[in-house]
Amino acid sequence: MMSTTPPIALTIAGSDSGGGAGIQADLKSFHARGVHGLSVIAAITSQNTRGVTAVHPVPLAHIRSQLAAVFDDFPIAAVKTGMLGNAAITRLVAREMHRRKPAWLVVDPVMIATSGSRLLTEDAIGAMVDKLIPLADLITPNLPEAEALLGRPIRTAKDFAQAGEDLLALGAGAVLLKGGHAKGGEVIDRLYDEQGVLELHHPRLRVEGHGTGCTLASAIAAELAKGASLRAAVRRAVDYVHRALAQSYRPGGGKVHVLRH
Ligand code: PLP
Repeated sequence: MMSTTPPIALTIAGSDSGGGAGIQADLKSFHARGVHGLSVIAAITSQNTRGVTAVHPVPLAHIRSQLAAVFDDFPIAAVKTGMLGNAAITRLVAREMHRRKPAWLVVDPVMIATSGSRLLTEDAIGAMVDKLIPLADLITPNLPEAEALLGRPIRTAKDFAQAGEDLLALGAGAVLLKGGHAKGGEVIDRLYDEQGVLELHHPRLRVEGHGTGCTLASAIAAELAKGASLRAAVRRAVDYVHRALAQSYRPGGGKVHVLRH
């Protein structure tokens, strides 16, 4: 007997050979949230729990052919982008998303790994802002990424309110400003959308998570693919990452923890 086909989501992102972040985290997250995951690999990192030792951007022609392969065959309900590596890849992905118009597009503006390695060249930030972000239903910057997008620090309550407004003005439908890099015993993630701001509070877990941002954006895409509203998708995904981080483990010699999906 054939069982029913789950909804289908696509990640366009970088590969983490250590299996904690990137494409590998996205596919685990899709699976855990009950969707079938497709992947277009934009860059290959040589990486473990101690850090990134090399980055190889995938040639544009091969990113294009991966996109053609998946869009020609699958009913893709939601797309998530992660590490895109450079400006040319960012522009290509933006052109393809403009042309293919997925029902949902979640853009995680990945720039720098927790270990400090650059995952997006400096000159690609302009392409991200001008070309990709205006197409997104949701962007999910962490605090350093939001500061890089706006070109100024975000510290005070007033800074946060203004940042929410100015990030929304970049043209995405909604902005999830993640609070993991802020200080304090609580992590506050803030969702800015046309309804205003929704704050999600969780107790801060004292572990250094690896792949949390990738997992969050892909869990949101999975919930959207299953038919949730944006606010419901964000709530469920934030809770999911918190639970997965509470059960995280250290698979290698580095101090980072990877999520248990
Ligand atoms: N490696 C790849 C391929 C990624 O896409 C990401 C995602 O942000 C990272 C590493 C960084 O992960 P983290 O900052 O959680 O260590």
